[in-house]
Amino acid sequence: MVYSKHNIFSRITGSDNFFIVNLLSGSADILSPAEGKMLKAYLDGKNIEEDFLENLKEKAYLVDEKEEAKLYQSKYLDFIDTRDEDEVQLFFVPNYTCNFACTYCYQDEYAPARQELTTAVTDAFFNYINHEFAGRKKYLTVFGGEPLLNSPKQKELITYLLKQANESNLEVCFVTNGYSLLEYIELLKIANIREIQVTLDGVGKVHDARRFLKGGGATFEKIVKGIDECLRIGLPVNLRMVIDKENIDGLPEMAQFAIDKGWTKNEFFKSQLGRNYELHHCQSTSEKLFSRISLYETIYKQVQQHPHILEFYKPAYSVSKFLFENGSLPDPLFDACPACKTEWAFDYTGQIFSCTATVGKADESLGTFYPEISRKDEMIAAWENRDVTSSSECFSCSMQLACGGGCGSVAKNRTGNVCSTDCRPVKELLELGFGAYFESNN
Ligand code: SF4
Ligand code: SF4
Repeated sequence: MVYSKHNIFSRITGSDNFFIVNLLSGSADILSPAEGKMLKAYLDGKNIEEDFLENLKEKAYLVDEKEEAKLYQSKYLDFIDTRDEDEVQLFFVPNYTCNFACTYCYQDEYAPARQELTTAVTDAFFNYINHEFAGRKKYLTVFGGEPLLNSPKQKELITYLLKQANESNLEVCFVTNGYSLLEYIELLKIANIREIQVTLDGVGKVHDARRFLKGGGATFEKIVKGIDECLRIGLPVNLRMVIDKENIDGLPEMAQFAIDKGWTKNEFFKSQLGRNYELHHCQSTSEKLFSRISLYETIYKQVQQHPHILEFYKPAYSVSKFLFENGSLPDPLFDACPACKTEWAFDYTGQIFSCTATVGKADESLGTFYPEISRKDEMIAAWENRDVTSSSECFSCSMQLACGGGCGSVAKNRTGNVCSTDCRPVKELLELGFGAYFESNN
């Protein structure tokens, strides 16, 4: 018997206890300080109590290597089978232009093509997806730029798009800055809307200092009115707060605002935090950005001081929240990046891309759906084949089944190769998560 290569073992933040989890076997335990010490002694090659050793074998923290390899193979095949049945998210970009000039916009380096979406392109898009993804469960997410620009022409284009989505029986999500939601509400009623993602980066001036109109102008109040109206008529809202060091201190206030508004108790409301990060080009202000772990360390401390934040947003801390809420671990994550598997992106120029991180970047185009269909098979295959088994670093990493290899686009920006690593601080996140969810709740 050997110590499983999928064990993740460490001390819990703010506690003398330890945790051990194994995503392959599905075991997870909190160890007392004495047990933690014993496990450390075992790892140092010392003899330990027989009972404790038996316990480790029973829970599959100690395994027969060949048996473990078989289990890995079988769970990997299950993962692939399940993914083949999963719903596909199809992004469509009707324009890259935007009425906002956010301080951190990664699309500011794009030079939008001097053309507009036409009904011919929209028709070609629906023909392509209905043929290419025939028989697959799928839904459409309209993305930008800003898709809900308040002009008669844009409304006409979005109306046509929504009618086509209805004909294809597709539910639709929008990713919008939310400024013109009120002007679009009537139009959105014709569609089967699954969700509208709107961004608020804080309350009032905190938001307005980051997300303002081109040429200047506050946006907070108008977006809030739009969110209120969506929730009132039952259009699901997913509120996203993009966080960096400039607005993190506004998180407690943002949470309180959402609570006072009654949003957090509304069945049509959910929220997420997005980490502002260097997506496409080094942001000139990168010192204001959090690393993944420093963001969660800061949120952990804020929640201790302002527990009401949890009513607005519950951090995942890798698989900790899942384990706490479900009493069991999630299935092993052999691949965290859905690009070209269950996610694709398309734009109004007729180009096909892997996902929202690559859409609009000329050198990332994977082909075209208009004016004719073309595919760059080699590039597509690289995306399709990316998972933790396609990188030797991931395959030998004990975090692999919680990390899933991270984001293919971040990995490619770093190394030039899609099949490379975007490491997640899984152990450190679990240390925080066990502290936040298990120790603080006894
Ligand atoms: S490349 Fe990154 S952003 Fe794109 S689907 Fe994969 S994980 Fe998501
Ligand atoms: S990306 Fe890094 S942390 Fe994640 S599985 Fe691969 S090697 Fe491990």
